[in-house]
Amino acid sequence: MSTFLHPGTQTHQIELAAPSISALHASSTGIDFVHEIASCIDGPEVLITALVHGNEYSGALALKEFLDAGVRPRCGRITAIFCNVAAFSRFDESKPDSSRYVDEDFNRVWDVDRLNEPASSSELDRARVLRPFVERSSYLLDLHSMHEPCGALLVTGLLQRNIDFAQALNTGAQAIVDAGHEDGVRMRDFGKFGQQDQPGIALLLEAGQHWARASLEMARNTLIRFLLASRVIEKNDVPQGWLLPDFPSPPPIFVTHRVVAKSMDFRFIDDYHGGEVIKIAGTIIATDAGHPVCVPYDDCILVMPSVRQLRPGVTTVRFGHLIN
Ligand SMILES: [Zn+2]
Repeated sequence: MSTFLHPGTQTHQIELAAPSISALHASSTGIDFVHEIASCIDGPEVLITALVHGNEYSGALALKEFLDAGVRPRCGRITAIFCNVAAFSRFDESKPDSSRYVDEDFNRVWDVDRLNEPASSSELDRARVLRPFVERSSYLLDLHSMHEPCGALLVTGLLQRNIDFAQALNTGAQAIVDAGHEDGVRMRDFGKFGQQDQPGIALLLEAGQHWARASLEMARNTLIRFLLASRVIEKNDVPQGWLLPDFPSPPPIFVTHRVVAKSMDFRFIDDYHGGEVIKIAGTIIATDAGHPVCVPYDDCILVMPSVRQLRPGVTTVRFGHLIN
């Protein structure tokens, strides 16, 4: 008898309980779940965001712990935002994949035209409220996690400054250099963060599997290294146990293709978790309504394969190669 479980049917153990964030509802900013800690000395505007996806709460655990630790910036301002709280409030351990969003993916609405148009959704309305905090920030770290167990990744977009910043963090996370998604704009690509001629550092951490203990440790480690690298805190300010040992990052992966599901009958042919290297061009890795999905070149790396949020138009896997 086969013990193979297809991705999307396998249930992952929930090692981390969802955080209680109700005490963080009110803040001096006047916006729900938006907290600022400012220094008297001018300096960088650093924004740390969690719960962009409502079921990815390892970042929210780290961010709440950070606020509870009382760390203050030496200069500038740190803003902490719990983004899609409406979706998170629906988290249910018995169906943990279903609280990613309420109406639409919060991380696909960051197109200026969409934000300016009158249409309304739970996520668009929240994005409009949060937009001024994103626009004013000079450094953005967006804390996410992944459907399948996989080593941590730092999604950088295409700009070299972000790739360099990610590599210098020494978290061991592999940089994913990509242009985003067809079905909308991510927060980390919004405005200046995606423009060559503008300043601004933006990274998106995929810390590991959503509910794995190691994902919380990676979220803490990356959060605190990001604050150190943006020079708003110093090493003496780091809460005990947050910094993991330096771990040189592997070469970045350049994403060349995104596979978008055309049907609800998209199936991987193996139990891929991400990071697999498919040696031969033309190898079939999935079928979509019976049609083969093949890798386009030799030594093709699979990035974040998953059918947990499957619907036509959703990215099911990216193809990439190493940048040496
Ligand atoms: Zn996410």
